[in-house]
Amino acid sequence: MQRFPCPFCGPRDEREFHFAGEAGKIRPTPSAAQSDTDWATYLYEAQNPRGPSREIWVHTPCQEYFIMTRDTVSMEVLGTEQLRKETL
Ligand SMILES: [Zn+2]
Repeated sequence: MQRFPCPFCGPRDEREFHFAGEAGKIRPTPSAAQSDTDWATYLYEAQNPRGPSREIWVHTPCQEYFIMTRDTVSMEVLGTEQLRKETL
């Protein structure tokens, strides 16, 4: 079992967290001009890096979304930060 640091509540059991997506992945503006390919790319393509990765997570008890940087090889948490539009 691993402990993740919620920036609002402190270290908590990993079972209290859920992955919410890659940081920096901007949703296309809904419109008829968006192609199916653009939507498919947004929905299904992922970077899936080997090593440090910036991801959006949610801590279920406080319902806060935040960015967690973790190493996908060692599973070490390298840091967390509050989720702001400019931090994406
Ligand atoms: Zn929390």
